[in-house]
Amino acid sequence: MASTSFNPFVMAQQQFDAVAAKLGLDQATCDLLRNPDREYHFNIPIRMDDGSYKVFRGFRVQHNDARGPCKGGIRFHPQETVDTVRALAMWMTWKTAVVDIPLGGGKGGVVCDPHHLSLREQEAICRGWVRQIARNVGPIQDVPAPDVMTSGQHMLWMLDEYEKITGMKYPGFITGKPLGMGGSLGRTEATGFGVIYTLREALKELNIDIQNTTASFQGFGNVSQYAIKLYMDYGGTAISVSCWDHKEQKSFTYRKKDGLNLNELLEITNRFGEIDRQKAMDLGYEVLPGEAWIEQEVDILVPAALENQINANTVNSIKPSVKLIAEGANGPTTIEADQVIQSKNIWVIPDFLANAGGVTCSYFEQVQCNTNYYWPLDEVLTKLDNIMTKAYHSVSELARSRNLYMRDAAYMIAISRVAEACKMRGWV
Ligand code: NAD
Repeated sequence: MASTSFNPFVMAQQQFDAVAAKLGLDQATCDLLRNPDREYHFNIPIRMDDGSYKVFRGFRVQHNDARGPCKGGIRFHPQETVDTVRALAMWMTWKTAVVDIPLGGGKGGVVCDPHHLSLREQEAICRGWVRQIARNVGPIQDVPAPDVMTSGQHMLWMLDEYEKITGMKYPGFITGKPLGMGGSLGRTEATGFGVIYTLREALKELNIDIQNTTASFQGFGNVSQYAIKLYMDYGGTAISVSCWDHKEQKSFTYRKKDGLNLNELLEITNRFGEIDRQKAMDLGYEVLPGEAWIEQEVDILVPAALENQINANTVNSIKPSVKLIAEGANGPTTIEADQVIQSKNIWVIPDFLANAGGVTCSYFEQVQCNTNYYWPLDEVLTKLDNIMTKAYHSVSELARSRNLYMRDAAYMIAISRVAEACKMRGWV
């Protein structure tokens, strides 16, 4: 979430401006791409369980749809701001472009705290959100998905409301639906696995055998759990992971130097991705401060929790042993930290490339829904691996051939593709 000191939209625009200058983009294209195409801000009035009425604020930001319908999640969060939604919408445009799927970028949100809302109240917010925006979203306009504190159930309520309004079945209106209700196999694993497909390719290029590597992860939620699983299946050793502890209101790092046992950790983790500290100690884990995840003597760091985690204050804690950072989270690294990482010669797989597996599988879900034919898991994962591997190599080839930082190379590919689509359409 945005704070007064960290504004993700300012960061997203700064990243864009720097690459636009390197690409020599003309003024009109810059003006077009550094701001969203359209924004919708609206009220969602709800009757609460106690009979009172409350009005929630909703957003949908459509950053760019030159390459296809907008695509992006809907977040429910008490500190949601339109700037966070704008930044995430812009990053979605680059994400869909860098993996070369025919979609644009969008994002939505509602300022609310699901911890203090009943399921009926949450359902009313979902239905109210769709009623306010139904004319401006849809399977060939803008396709929403779950994000922070929204789930497959929320998506199904939204789909149901959309189908009531249109009077037709449109399962491709929204993705992240439960299996059997239009969801795709592999969606749960997709983001974490995608991070590791790109990591596997990067290690091959660096001539490092994954089986001789160690890694430290920040976050133990959806992305991190599946990333750790595939990394360990490939023979890597994950030695530490940090996560939030809601009782203590701070994060902790859990370490076992000879390797985490994923299954035993999953057994003591709640649905918010929080490890039970006492049980972890009983199992022999060292419990270290939250920031210790970044200070480990490992080969690989995987930030997979929040934005703004590798910043001017933390970047100098990275040990010389670290050769690679694979960004599972969105926006985990600030521009100041990027400069230090570059000077340390650490290879980075930037967020909108590394974590694009989720949106790629959402795209598969949409394709399956639109054709009303569903693929088996191995077909989904093979297609996902192919797309992530190809996208990784096009970015790394550009980075190597032009001696660019990986983030800049990824931005150059994504921004060029979107700028080209805008030009071909005659927009600028
Ligand atoms: P999640 O809610 O499932 O898990 C988040 C994890 O981060 C939890 O383990 C939580 O305890 C931990 N965490 C929270 N605050 C922390 C802190 N201060 N220090 C350490 N750990 C902390 O979320 P997720 O779906 O795994 O998403 C993680 C990141 O990946 C986010 O930036 C998200 O935007 C990004 N992302 C997710 C997907 C997806 O498909 N889930 C796709 C693309 C990007």
